[in-house]
Amino acid sequence: MIDGKPDERPAFLPLSVPEIGGNEWTYIKECLDTNWVSSVGSYVTRFEEAVAARVGVAHGVATASGTAALHTALLVAGVEADDEVLVSTLTFIAPANAIRYVGAHPVFVDATEDDWQMDPKQVAVFLEQECAMTDGVCRNQATGRRVRAIIPVHTLGHPVDMAPLLALAKTYGLVVIEDAAESIGAAYEDGDHLRPVGSMGHLACFSFNGNKVMTCGGGGMLVTQDADLAQRARYLTTQAKDDPVEYEHGEVGYNYRLTNIAAAMGCAQLEQLDGFIQTKRHIATTYNEALSQIPGIQVMPEAPWARSISWMYTVLVNEVEFGMGSRDLLKALAQASIQTRPLWQPMHLSKPHGHCQHLGGKVAEDIHARSLSLPCSTGITSSDLERVIQTISSLQGR
Ligand SMILES: *Cc1c(COP(=O)(O)O)cnc(C)c1O
Repeated sequence: MIDGKPDERPAFLPLSVPEIGGNEWTYIKECLDTNWVSSVGSYVTRFEEAVAARVGVAHGVATASGTAALHTALLVAGVEADDEVLVSTLTFIAPANAIRYVGAHPVFVDATEDDWQMDPKQVAVFLEQECAMTDGVCRNQATGRRVRAIIPVHTLGHPVDMAPLLALAKTYGLVVIEDAAESIGAAYEDGDHLRPVGSMGHLACFSFNGNKVMTCGGGGMLVTQDADLAQRARYLTTQAKDDPVEYEHGEVGYNYRLTNIAAAMGCAQLEQLDGFIQTKRHIATTYNEALSQIPGIQVMPEAPWARSISWMYTVLVNEVEFGMGSRDLLKALAQASIQTRPLWQPMHLSKPHGHCQHLGGKVAEDIHARSLSLPCSTGITSSDLERVIQTISSLQGR
């Protein structure tokens, strides 16, 4: 008690929460009113078409999650048991798990210091020096296994440097599956045109989980230019049903469909995406300007060819210069009711995937050790941002 007033803990500031401020209530109510609540209904098709149009591709297949979209993408790409798939090591675990679902082996690729994304140079060295082409098939000479696909993960809302990867994939006959789960709306400047993430690979996947820039509650989507791949994805995600009346199925399929209710929410969120991205970028600019002044704080990079959506605002903490490391800063900010999080443990160090081959990894390890994601909900206020900045500033050098 000070001056007779009760002690007040500052309000809890979450890392990132959804913003539901558009037509969500209207569209979902329509599903409930019309009894179209399950995995058939007009919102599913509408959502698929709207996302595909937004990304600039011909086909969208809605799925129950981003992970389901990745699993399906690997299946339709023809990735088989004992194949190898190149994937970023600095990522949320979903793409590595999906590779394992089909019995294939991930080969983890380090990040670059400049953009924290998959390093195309490591991929080039691997393909050129460790692999060989025989009869049009790329094989890892050490394991004898076929290298079938590559999954560049556009992490934190920032695109991967795609041009060199697309060229390598062409030379070595690899299927490119973009994991754009965190980055819908981001773009990559390729020469003089701007290419949306999700439009560059043979296949791409999005997630609409609650923590992403737009959400269905839970859901995902696979997109592609290729009508045959889209049709096969639709078939596999609906239990591989061959006959519309009889329960006859052509192969082992999956129930990976999105519900009409979730799609209705997705349609409403997509209408607000441009605003969300504008806000995310504004948050990043505000943080960048203030935090780059603080010794020991390195702000989130944006490559000159990138149009990041700044999905999850993240800094790197230099323990010596700042006076404490990222994990101690996390605890100190938690004391001030500010929620923060480090980035994901790199996949080559993870328990389920640590035995797999990795190309480099030190950059990802360093980013992981020093990283801290800061509150960046689209609904965050200027005074909340100021509070985070002031608190970090006051902790520096202590
Ligand atoms: C969130 C995420 C996924 C998985 O999406 P879910 O909808 O949670 O299954 C896949 N890849 C990356 C990089 C993600 O961040």
